[in-house]
Amino acid sequence: MAVQRLDPGTLMFATAVLGFLTAGFSFTTVKALSGAGKGIEEWGCAMLTLGGAFLLWFLTPANSALFFLGNVLVVFTGLFLLRAFFRLTGEPFTLAGSIIIFLLGTSGIAATYYFGAPRSVAVVTIAASHLTMVIASSWRLLRSSESLHSTYRRVIVVVLLLLGGATSARIWIVLFGQGAAMVSPVASSGAQILTTSTAALLIVAGSLGYFGIVGEQQRQRLLENSRRDALTGLYTRGAFFEMAEKLLAGRNSPYSVLMIDLDNFKNINDTYGHVAGDEVIRQAAGVILHSIRDGDLAGRYGGEELCVLLPKCGNEAANIIAERIVHGAAEQVIHLLNGQSIVYTISLGFNTYEPTESHTLAPPKLEELLSSADAALYNAKKLGKNRVHAASNCLE
Ligand code: GH3
Ligand code: MG
Ligand code: MG
Repeated sequence: MAVQRLDPGTLMFATAVLGFLTAGFSFTTVKALSGAGKGIEEWGCAMLTLGGAFLLWFLTPANSALFFLGNVLVVFTGLFLLRAFFRLTGEPFTLAGSIIIFLLGTSGIAATYYFGAPRSVAVVTIAASHLTMVIASSWRLLRSSESLHSTYRRVIVVVLLLLGGATSARIWIVLFGQGAAMVSPVASSGAQILTTSTAALLIVAGSLGYFGIVGEQQRQRLLENSRRDALTGLYTRGAFFEMAEKLLAGRNSPYSVLMIDLDNFKNINDTYGHVAGDEVIRQAAGVILHSIRDGDLAGRYGGEELCVLLPKCGNEAANIIAERIVHGAAEQVIHLLNGQSIVYTISLGFNTYEPTESHTLAPPKLEELLSSADAALYNAKKLGKNRVHAASNCLE
């Protein structure tokens, strides 16, 4: 077979070097991302242990103690990979799970090296722990499909499937084929070439997919940050309009908009200073975020004016949310570092679009609805502030 012309020693050495280089790259990337790189440390450890295992197998084919150490390292590789994939999807892998995988992998190694069991026992348990990693990781990656970039995710899943296939083939060969051939630079069995090439593929293609996803997540995070107002964490005015238009496009369901303005804010600034004023705006934004649902949008319209879009929300529900926000703000006491405390109130105007039965009227533009909510807000101010006013109650 042509594949057997591949020199096993060179392949093993190259795989070890690839593993070390990728580990080095991973650890420097972690530093550059100052802790924001999800699971890259674990990925680096997986590459380091994999490179270490191949180096040991390459250097010491005859030394059974070091060969044993290589096998332990490769169990750790599976463990680190599992933890890396779980962290990538935002869910840490449990310590109990890690211990089970570790014990599964090392039990056969211990049985072989300490209790004289046939080498096939070690090969099968290592392979079983790797197969567990492949199944659990693929399951996690496929389940978190929306949050991960799809092309890179596919690359990783394909690599995992190949790894799973190769691992199963190794078990098959041990049980029904050539037996448990050692991974060695002098033996060039099909099982050996298969193991080494799959490891090299994991290092190169797996890393490509892994770093691709991490890079994409970073890009998304930066984009999200650029859409957020630095003081309040609400969407900036531009982002609010852009996202609201997207949310409303092509739909003809009811929705409501709220316009909110802090009462007597000039006084607050004059009495407590601008820094304290900023804190009041921040806290008011917090009240809003606490009062709305996940799919709602809150933005900083400008200065101390904030706005909210409530998709699929009719007049009555909007009124309840609006009252919740106004009361929430009025009940808040903000304690300043200098020992002073501030109480404040807000006024809120809102408007709702309800589609007509006949669908003859086109839905109003978001700006139109906001401007009538703003008129309602003006009414709330005129009526004494610290209150909700509905546009439907405005006198023309
Ligand atoms: P009203 O109850 O009628 O709303 O009275 P008001 O004093 O709040 O009047 P207005 O809404 O016109 O006041 C806006 C003030 O908010 C003026 C501006 O100095 C202050 N302001 C706007 N943006 C910020 C900000 O980011 N930080 C701080 N501290 N103050 C701001
Ligand atoms: Mg204002
Ligand atoms: Mg104001």
